Amino acid sequence: MPLVTTRQLLDEAAKGGYGVGAFNVNDMEQIQAIMEAAKETNSPVIIQASRGARQFAQDNYLFHLILAANELYPEIPIAMHLDHGNSFDTCKSAIALGFSSVMMDGSLKEDGKTPTTFEENVAVTKQVVDYAHERGVSVEGEIGVLGGIEDGHGAGGSGLEHVTDPDQAVEFAERTGVDALAIAIGTSHGAYKFTKKPDGSVLKMDLLIKIHNRLPKTHLVMHGSSSVPKDLQDIVNQYGGKLKETWGVPVEEIQLGIRNGVRKINVDTDNRLAITGAIRKVFAESPEKFDPRDYLKPAREAMQKVVATRMVQFGQAGHAGDYAPISITEIAKGYANGSLTTQPLVAAK
Ligand SMILES: [Zn+2]
Repeated sequence: MPLVTTRQLLDEAAKGGYGVGAFNVNDMEQIQAIMEAAKETNSPVIIQASRGARQFAQDNYLFHLILAANELYPEIPIAMHLDHGNSFDTCKSAIALGFSSVMMDGSLKEDGKTPTTFEENVAVTKQVVDYAHERGVSVEGEIGVLGGIEDGHGAGGSGLEHVTDPDQAVEFAERTGVDALAIAIGTSHGAYKFTKKPDGSVLKMDLLIKIHNRLPKTHLVMHGSSSVPKDLQDIVNQYGGKLKETWGVPVEEIQLGIRNGVRKINVDTDNRLAITGAIRKVFAESPEKFDPRDYLKPAREAMQKVVATRMVQFGQAGHAGDYAPISITEIAKGYANGSLTTQPLVAAK
């Protein structure tokens, strides 16, 4: 089975009315955890790698690990996605490597920290869309700026400083032709998203619904959407960790998003917490152990459990066999003849 594009995967999710988790990876165990969870729940899946992951693992290792997943689980549609591309060149190099999908985060300058102007964002995103679509590769753009910093990427701040303006979201989607649109509704990257259980004053679900009503056919993406569950924080702290109390995005808010056009949900922090908690537990309970498999195996199992739970909660479970992947060559033809780019982006008046 060829790698599937996020465009096809999210179009199918829209038809089925569900969301798809996009899980970040840096190493083999994380990829294995995701694939076992996908098999267990019969889910299509998006595996994504940030620039930080590509530096940590090196492109060739990462790409071949995902190809191995593709060989071992032929029944599971897998999209391989670049998370937070910071420039045209970063996206181009991911496409050259074989990624079926890229994010051009033009909300920030190439330094990954400084917010851009609207026009700068449109220009660089459109450049990536033109290049990627010619090759059948999907593109996610971002309008508005998320809070926090992760993997050295982010403007910092609370997440409320640059929430998405619905008029700009419409203009951005129309002018760039992106396949999916990340919006900023108060969420942040990393573990420290909210200082209490979020309500409408900090997590702007009303804004998300407003944007969906204006762009009913556009696949929306929620970033910074780990739920940061207390039980995972507790395991880390119980075995010597020092996490400060924090709140993520409650699953029921994500499910409300899925009912309102959210098709891709990025999850990283929850898996990091699960892995770290499992490893700390082994170190604390069995300090005599030194074979890495003794702690990597429970770490992998802990991540698999989180991923499988999210797959069920997002609704992608059970949908792996719904469709056959369309090759990027065929998808490129669809963009070229207009059948894929002419989706009605804006609601009819
Ligand atoms: Zn993100």
